[in-house]
Amino acid sequence: MAEVVTVTGRYEVVIVGGGPAGLSAALMLGRARRSVLVVDGGEPRNAPAAHMYGFLSRDGVAPGELLEAGRREAAGYGGEVIGGRARSASRDGEWMTIELDTGRTVRARRLLVTSGIVDELPDVPGLAQRWGRDVLHCPYCHGWEVRDSPIGVLASGPMSVHQTLLFRQWTDRLTFLTHTGPVPTAEQAEELAARDIRVVTGEVSALEIAEDRLTGVRLRTGERVALRALAVAPRAVPRAAVLGALGLEPTPHPSGMGAYIAADPTGRTPVPGVWVAGNLADPMANVLASAASGSAAAGAINADLIAEETRRAVLRRRDPFSRESEARLCDQVMGARRHGL
Ligand SMILES: Cc1cc2nc3c(=O)[nH]c(=O)nc-3n(C[C@H](O)[C@H](O)[C@H](O)COP(=O)(O)OP(=O)(O)OC[C@H]3O[C@@H](n4cnc5c(N)ncnc54)[C@H](O)[C@@H]3O)c2cc1C
Repeated sequence: MAEVVTVTGRYEVVIVGGGPAGLSAALMLGRARRSVLVVDGGEPRNAPAAHMYGFLSRDGVAPGELLEAGRREAAGYGGEVIGGRARSASRDGEWMTIELDTGRTVRARRLLVTSGIVDELPDVPGLAQRWGRDVLHCPYCHGWEVRDSPIGVLASGPMSVHQTLLFRQWTDRLTFLTHTGPVPTAEQAEELAARDIRVVTGEVSALEIAEDRLTGVRLRTGERVALRALAVAPRAVPRAAVLGALGLEPTPHPSGMGAYIAADPTGRTPVPGVWVAGNLADPMANVLASAASGSAAAGAINADLIAEETRRAVLRRRDPFSRESEARLCDQVMGARRHGL
C-alpha cells in the first residue's frame, strides 16, 4: 500500500541550509515576493571560529552574528526560517517534496540546497580540538591574526605546497611539514627554498598545547617544532545526502581538495527545479562569495518561476478551460500566502 504523505506546507521555494548562502537567497526571494521556507540544521562550517574576517562591513564579527542578522532580514520579508534537517527530496509532478526530520513534509516549486560541506581533517591526535582556533586552513580568513609568527603547514594533500607559498605572504617564519603528504617535486623544493621556507620531513604524531594555545607539533621521531599556528588542507565532504534521491551526487573538485555538486554559474543543476549555492557548489568560496552565490541563485530561481508563470498565463489565455486552471489555482494560493491572507 502506498505511504500516505501529509504535507504541512507549500512554498514557492524551499531552501535547505540557513548559512550565508541560504539566508542571502531567502532575503532576495522574500524581497521578490516569493514564499520561502529555510530549513537549517544549525551547524555552519565556520562555527568553530570566534570571528569572521574579510566580509566587507562585517569584518571581525562573530559568525553567529551575521546569521542572526540574516534570519531577521529574511523574516522581515515573510521568509520562514526553521530549525531542523531535510532528510530527503523527491519530485512529485511539478512539485518537489522535502521530508524534514521534524516529521514535517513540505512541498516547493523550486529547491535550493545550500547545506555546505564538512571539513575532513587530518587524523592527528589533538588537531580537531584546535580547528578554527590555531589550526587553520585559509590565510585570507585568519592569516592576519597570526602574521609574523611561526606557522607550520601540514602537508596532507595535493594543494599543500601551494598553501605554504600562500602563507609566506603572512610570515617569513614558515615550516613545511611533509607529514603524510606527497613529497615535493624538485621544482617545488626549489620554490620552497627560494622563499626561505624550512622543510621538516617525517610524520607529525601530536600537537603540543600549553595554556589553551598551540605551542608546537611533535614528530614520530620525537623531534619538536615550535609553532604558533598550524595550517592544514581539509578534504571537503559535501553535505549532499538530501540530493541523492534526485540523482545528484558529488563529483571530485578540480582542485583535488574534495568534492562538490556541479552546477552552472547561477547554481542551476542538471535536475530541473533544483539549485545549489555556497560551499556545496564551490568549496573554496568564503562567506562573502557564498552569500553572493546564494543571491545569484535566488535571482535565477525567480526568473525561472516567472518564465513558468508566463508560459502558463499564455496557455490559459489561449484556452481558459485547459489543465492550466489547476496551476492557476496554485498561483492564487501562493499569491494569498504572499499577501498574508
Ligand atoms: C574554521 C573556519 C573558519 C572560517 N573563517 C572564515 C572567515 O573568517 N571568513 C570567511 O569569509 N570565510 C570563512 N570560512 C569559510 C566559511 O565558513 C564558508 O565560506 C561559509 O560558511 C559557507 O557558507 P554556506 O552557506 O555555503 O554553508 P554553511 O555556512 O556551512 O551553512 C550551511 C548550513 O546548512 C545546514 N545544513 C546542512 N545539511 C542540512 C540539512 N540536510 N538540512 C538542513 N540544514 C542543513 C548546516 O547545519 C549549516 O547551518 C571559514 C571556514 C572554516 C572551516
